[in-house]
Amino acid sequence: MSHVFPRHCHATLPTAVAGDGCYLIDKDGKRYFDGSGGAAVSCLGHSNQNVINAIKEQAGKLAFAHTGFFTSEPAEELAELLIANAPGDLDRVYFVSGGSEAVESAIKLARQYFVEKGETQRRHLIARRQSYHGNTLGALSAGGNALRREKFAPILVEMSHVAPCYEYTERDTAESLEDYGQRVANDLEAEILRLGADTVMAFIAEPVVGATLGAVTSVPGYFKRVREICDEHGILLILDEVMCGMGRTGYLFAHEADGIKADIVCIAKGLGAGYQPIGAMLCTDHIYNTIKDGSGFFQHGHTYLGHPIATAASLAVVKEILNNDLVNQVKQRGAFLESALQAKFADHPHIGDIRGRGLFRGIEIVEDRDTKTPFNPSLGLAAKLKKAALAEGLICYPGSGTRDGKHGDHILLAPPFIASEAQLSELVNMLARAIDKTL
Ligand code: PLP
Repeated sequence: MSHVFPRHCHATLPTAVAGDGCYLIDKDGKRYFDGSGGAAVSCLGHSNQNVINAIKEQAGKLAFAHTGFFTSEPAEELAELLIANAPGDLDRVYFVSGGSEAVESAIKLARQYFVEKGETQRRHLIARRQSYHGNTLGALSAGGNALRREKFAPILVEMSHVAPCYEYTERDTAESLEDYGQRVANDLEAEILRLGADTVMAFIAEPVVGATLGAVTSVPGYFKRVREICDEHGILLILDEVMCGMGRTGYLFAHEADGIKADIVCIAKGLGAGYQPIGAMLCTDHIYNTIKDGSGFFQHGHTYLGHPIATAASLAVVKEILNNDLVNQVKQRGAFLESALQAKFADHPHIGDIRGRGLFRGIEIVEDRDTKTPFNPSLGLAAKLKKAALAEGLICYPGSGTRDGKHGDHILLAPPFIASEAQLSELVNMLARAIDKTL
């Protein structure tokens, strides 16, 4: 009997023993194509020798030095590389161990920034429905995934949730994409005014919604209007790129596609590519200096901040992405994957929408394409699809909708950046077989 406390108590999982490029291999020798990089993590595949060597080398030199006492060479070098390649005014990097910690740090940084400025009444965080920002209590409070919040609702921090930008189900048929974007962004302003503009500290959003909706990009103009609204009311814009960042969408930072500047950006997953647990929060010099010139101390911190082996691994990951021009490769392979998905599923009676950017793609499953009616959630399609795909030798990331009768199941794809066109075609074929067996 296993003494591991698993995610699913009744599932019997294969034991992963090795990684080989885009594949994971289990104890019985079965190979699985990692079509979702786990949960959009393994952007370089599973056996990148440069990253493995960087880990070995750093472990041989220095494994840990507490950031209360020391900085470290890999953390310094990684911060410099990230900032040299970050858009807008991002200028400082705060290293943590993963996505939820990055979001927690961002929320606390926003609050402390206003405390230092003497605007102590600013305490509200506004997020979006059908978003996911992590599982720790602050991040879960920000998230708008009803299912993930349900059991913990009484112990969550009160936060506001406004409409996501999700044109497939939310746009009126008579409305242009642009008009829809403005309308839904203005929902944010309405909430700001309802709360009292000078009590709001920040708005948080995923530039491309990952886990809850499945690679939903915003419509043109939406984030520009969001930025305007935040500026008009002196509110910080936090972009959660934990899943969609680090090249996944064909841009190193996903919000480059939206042509806006962020005040704070959270990254994780692809930052360590699964080789080490690491996340980061990037912020502007203005925010950093406000704290530096104020109390001089960010009242936050975790033991493993800026861990030397994690930052050394991440440094090697980011160098691999940049030196091999993988961001452009993602754009090209992403276009290939989109065409392959369209060719296979555009006429499928139960595929309502095919969407995403770069190698971050989602397909939405519906019972009825004309009315966009989802299947009944009690059918548990997402879990069945995951199982059927695994049997085919494919790892994909199905999600079970939002259980509001309006948003259905989806499948999220986030294959490694190194996947060849032939491998992406095979991914689509395996997915089609899994869907045929399930629906
Ligand atoms: N934010 C987003 C957008 C995510 O997709 C996730 C994880 O899926 C998180 C935050 C939380 O990251 P982690 O699981 O590393 O804590």
